[in-house]
Amino acid sequence: MPDIERLRREVSLPDLAMNNGVALQKNGDEWEGCCPFHQENTPSFTVFRGKDGIERFHCFGCNERGDVVDFVKLLKGVDTREAVSILGGGCAGPNVAPRQVEARDRYAGIELLRPTRGIAVGSVLRLYNPKRADDPKLAWGRATPSMVFPYWMAPGVGLGYVLRNDLSDGGKETPMVCWVRLPSGEECWSRFPFPRPRPLYIGGGADRLRDGQVVVVEGEKCADAMLRATGRQAVAWAGGTFGVEHTDWSPLAGRSVVIWPDADKPGLSTAEKIAGKLVAIGCTLKVMRLEVAV
Ligand SMILES: [Zn+2]
Repeated sequence: MPDIERLRREVSLPDLAMNNGVALQKNGDEWEGCCPFHQENTPSFTVFRGKDGIERFHCFGCNERGDVVDFVKLLKGVDTREAVSILGGGCAGPNVAPRQVEARDRYAGIELLRPTRGIAVGSVLRLYNPKRADDPKLAWGRATPSMVFPYWMAPGVGLGYVLRNDLSDGGKETPMVCWVRLPSGEECWSRFPFPRPRPLYIGGGADRLRDGQVVVVEGEKCADAMLRATGRQAVAWAGGTFGVEHTDWSPLAGRSVVIWPDADKPGLSTAEKIAGKLVAIGCTLKVMRLEVAV
């Protein structure tokens, strides 16, 4: 299965983990966070790049370890073939259609609604966590976002928010949050990955793009900063490196676009992926290349 080797090298394990609700914090060359595979309050879970260039995780609490494929197998409870399929390897093996993973979908039965209210910075939010639905005590949590980034399906039509929650251990998490109706009928804010393809985030939380040039930056915070500092219209996408594929880039079609990547290796390779998508839809493209200070 040559796909596995490719995925092991190409899929960012920290991004994948974070997109799956693991709050990771960068610590030098490594990432640390609380382990998704056992209950803990202090981080034992680390992600690092091995000498062979492949990213791996290791939990010093429960001793789970492996690469990006192993991570998906453990997290989703699937076999290698299905893990490869989830990670986007289309040809995981001969004549085997990807099985339905929806059977394990924690979000099944939860209905996405248009938000009828907003989320304000510093407000105390009662937040449902479908991944913890098995345990009523853990299913509900509180969050006090230090930043809120609204996403829009269309002008005036809200989709949800990416929040920045600062955690007591000094880490942070940036969950996607939507207004939903639970199977019980209750309506609430819930951790809920935006349906794909996902809209772009527009700097300042705007619900539509203005005419003219657009700057693509990594992270909503950056898009807001760009707008504040320069008045330039900037966009970002949800879900980190992995989210590039799940984003609807079509609103940028035909425009003049500047990609301003994070000046690190993952940032640059992400910029290349985005550039490919934008060229394909007729954008006039510039990519900022900044020297990386090491
Ligand atoms: Zn663990």
